[in-house]
Amino acid sequence: MEHRFKDAVLGGVLGGAVGDALGMPFEGLPSKSIAEKYHRIDYYLPGRKGTPLQTLRPGQYTDDTQLVVATLNAFQQGYSIARLVHEFKLLFPNIRGAGKSTYTALNNLVNDCSPKKSGDLLGIGCGAITRVFPFVALRYGDDDITACENEIASAVQITHNNKTATSAALITSGILEKLVELDANYFNRKKNRLDFISKIIECPMNETPELKQLQRNLMNVKNILQNKRPNILDLREKLGSTGKIMELLPSSLCFFLLSSESYLSSVSDAIMLGGDTDSRAALTGIFSGVYLGKSKIPEYLLTGLEKHSELERLASDLASSIERRFSGISRYRRSN
Ligand SMILES: [Mg+2]
Repeated sequence: MEHRFKDAVLGGVLGGAVGDALGMPFEGLPSKSIAEKYHRIDYYLPGRKGTPLQTLRPGQYTDDTQLVVATLNAFQQGYSIARLVHEFKLLFPNIRGAGKSTYTALNNLVNDCSPKKSGDLLGIGCGAITRVFPFVALRYGDDDITACENEIASAVQITHNNKTATSAALITSGILEKLVELDANYFNRKKNRLDFISKIIECPMNETPELKQLQRNLMNVKNILQNKRPNILDLREKLGSTGKIMELLPSSLCFFLLSSESYLSSVSDAIMLGGDTDSRAALTGIFSGVYLGKSKIPEYLLTGLEKHSELERLASDLASSIERRFSGISRYRRSN
């Protein structure tokens, strides 16, 4: 199982980055425009002319992965909020295609604002949930759940300082923790897919109108999984295609579960929905990468990814540090 854990950690980090880079050129396009030219997105393209990402080359990723890399860098000498803040500040102002909340928060940090006050009080963009996986890996198997949740909450708060973002990040981390433990054929059974989404829907989501919306959209995902697969326009109608947490988390989960056996199908479908394609493909890629492992991500996409060796080394260091912590203890349990 130790091999599985390392493959899952590498899969989550690299799967997110590959998805981000595949989705990057389509950011902001409606699904119709993408479908007119492509059936499947399985190779890297440069950033689109006339957009903030136009200078990016094929295989380059955006803010979602830059924040993950910064987080992994902050883990290198032992994690603290101060180290995370230091790494985040280094990204400013050259962060690629960040949403308003993240960009403003980084600007606040650079101007010596406290990380407790830098975050957007109303921001409900997905920037806080696409960077949560490193924390899940770092604290995997830790029994002090409250401490782990507080750690994630304080990291989320740096950019998104509100209940919706924190709760959604904790729900996302719960999903990812579960995916690390599952065998990579678990979702072959429809019943398991439905049980999985049902358990997520049961999480408390009534504290804000946005969380209630998140729960309704997760119910839509369950509905989609129960019935014949709808076409892309129906999917967009039922799931929404923006980068708001309430739309991005359910849509990413949906594309992952609809093609759980194939990393590339999940990520390509996530892009074909249009809208916030890079963040959705990043989160879908994280889910799929954790569940299937790095070994199921096509090799040509890994080698074509910007700074892939550095990313792999950072993820590998993280996995090794957890394995050392658990060496000799049978923590890598499978529980359904
Ligand atoms: Mg992005």
